Amino acid sequence: MTRTTRRAWAEAEPRARQVARLLWERPEPGLAEHYAVGLLTEWLAGQGFTVRSGVAGLPTAFVATAGTGGPTVGVLAEYDALPGLAADGAACAGAARPGAAARRRGPGHGCGHNLIAAANVAAAVAAARVLRESGAPGQVVVFGTPAEELFAGKLAMLRAGVFDAAEVLLTSHPDYQNAALSRPCAAVVSAEFGFAGRPGHTGWVVDGNALDAAEIFTATMERLRAHRMPGVSVEHVPVSRDQVVPNVAPGHAGIWCYLRHREVDRALAALDQLAAVAGQAAAAAGAEATVTLLACSRGYLPNDEIGRLLGRCLRDAGPPAWTLGELREMAALAADPAAGTRADLELGPLTEGVDPYGQDDGEVSWTIPVGRVNWAVPAGLPLHSGAATALFGTDAAWRGAAMASLALALAAGRLLASPGLVADCRAELAARVAAHGPVPSRVGAVDLAALADLVGRDLGAARISGSEPADLLDAG
Ligand SMILES: [Zn+2]
Repeated sequence: MTRTTRRAWAEAEPRARQVARLLWERPEPGLAEHYAVGLLTEWLAGQGFTVRSGVAGLPTAFVATAGTGGPTVGVLAEYDALPGLAADGAACAGAARPGAAARRRGPGHGCGHNLIAAANVAAAVAAARVLRESGAPGQVVVFGTPAEELFAGKLAMLRAGVFDAAEVLLTSHPDYQNAALSRPCAAVVSAEFGFAGRPGHTGWVVDGNALDAAEIFTATMERLRAHRMPGVSVEHVPVSRDQVVPNVAPGHAGIWCYLRHREVDRALAALDQLAAVAGQAAAAAGAEATVTLLACSRGYLPNDEIGRLLGRCLRDAGPPAWTLGELREMAALAADPAAGTRADLELGPLTEGVDPYGQDDGEVSWTIPVGRVNWAVPAGLPLHSGAATALFGTDAAWRGAAMASLALALAAGRLLASPGLVADCRAELAARVAAHGPVPSRVGAVDLAALADLVGRDLGAARISGSEPADLLDAG
């Protein structure tokens, strides 16, 4: 079967590489991935998948299914880009880029989601083809999951029950090693602290300046976090709908925060502490505060059973076949070109430690087993940078994604052929969930309407599911 899958995957690979490049050339930020959805669903429909678009109240989410009966193996496709991350090969060189042109830089695939979409879909296409030719029962389901960087797409789809169509899920992501993973990442809470004040001319005294409140909040948050929220990563960015020049006091000022900790309880506790700070900052400035929980996702629940399977499949796929020239090309983009790229394979799944990032499939992994494969980028290349965007448009980057893609195709084939293996993955998940305590009610929450409003996107007439507007000032 391995040989059949390899052949089917090799036939899908040229299209996948082309799709990765096309997505890179037309990057779209979260909740606006219309071109990506068109490209991927057209590819899947052409390969015999039945496509349903606009699921879970998300115009850019889709589900594509091939085959009948069970087992059912799902593949996640991410395709959102990051704002302000246009490709910049010199981004890590430390060169200052002042001026309006630099500030207006467009979105880019600084997290490699163009490669994830192409690699994961190619795996599904190959697995579905082998399934069709064998005549065996089973389904391959591709979940098109938008707005990963906003922690929105998969949370909304999970709440709407969309993932019930699969018994196990497979995905891949760039990182700093070639490996299968069975270890947690951080839980993430996304929230907006909004401040409403009286707009006016700042040359006069304006009582209730929203920007004053936001800045008191930010300064206090930064002052307190080391001692009052130890171990919690607190990241923020100002968001303002009104303020354009210094002589206008804005009617509204907002601070958008991501709060991360391995334990979701600790991230939620930090949210409650900051909600209290927001109220006090607003009172000090004579403004009003609101706190909106935008999303809350736990980190990955490890699954050693599926991790071991993917470790075996990676070994069968073999490490990325980079040429020396490609390794040099990749190193040139890194801040520290000497750090190099891991060209070897980790043996077995990585199970130790906690990854510092958050992912919205982290929350999904508590309901459906999620198997993950990483492929390596240079150690000195930061993800979410213009240099990473530059890398993810190259053939060298595709080689890593291609390794992951073939490994996922092989894993999908083995899961489809062995219902007992699928059952083992699910049994491990059930045992791990049972070992944890009760789940706080805010876990898994997502407020699509507020997120769309925050990032200026129109969800159209799509029915919003899983939407939970929440003013947390009363929640303590
Ligand atoms: Zn990512």
